[in-house]
Amino acid sequence: MAAAATAAALAIPTLHSSNLSSAQTQLRNGRQAQVCAPRALLFQVVSTSVEVESRPSVKRDAQVLPFRVGHGFDLHRLEPGLPLIIGGIDIPHERGCEAHSDGDVLLHCIVDAILGALSLPDIGQIFPDTDPKWRGAASSVFVKEAVKLMHEAGYVLGNIDATLILQKPKLSPHKESIRKNLCELLGADPAVVNIKAKTHEKVDSLGENRSIAAHTVVLLMRK
Ligand SMILES: [Zn+2]
Repeated sequence: MAAAATAAALAIPTLHSSNLSSAQTQLRNGRQAQVCAPRALLFQVVSTSVEVESRPSVKRDAQVLPFRVGHGFDLHRLEPGLPLIIGGIDIPHERGCEAHSDGDVLLHCIVDAILGALSLPDIGQIFPDTDPKWRGAASSVFVKEAVKLMHEAGYVLGNIDATLILQKPKLSPHKESIRKNLCELLGADPAVVNIKAKTHEKVDSLGENRSIAAHTVVLLMRK
């Protein structure tokens, strides 16, 4: 009742299952109003959206946002004698990642950032490590799937900013190769793909060359 009353005050018609499609469009227009509405009106519109979206049949329309932000994090143990693959590039090092797939910490957290921005389940749920078909799989497969899901949801990559945390080896000689490969996988211009690398000041497993971690933030934009 409260939703209908407030919606009427804002000239957003009450929703019926028979005109859901048109109602979704109207809701979308309501959401667009949030972006540019004066502050007082914004409060009203936000209140209305929350109430209307409490109806399960309409909640899916929450996907229709002009921008979506996602964050990804990943960490792997480093063990002697394994390959170290970062961003799809084989990096010479005496240790590599212990993992079910190829252990590419950067690609894994990029996938999680994209899936997170889309409000989808995380990489472990979509590609479970209990499934033998992912054993030793190149993580580029996961990135391509995430990019496909992003396009299917109606979004393109805005920009991506990733931070790798590892004590050794130095990544600066490999950063451009990693970025080039990422751009190809993501179908993105180098200007919107950024990679940073930091040590962990010799502290904890990351600083003792026993693990590697990465964070990624991604911005998606509505097509
Ligand atoms: Zn991982």
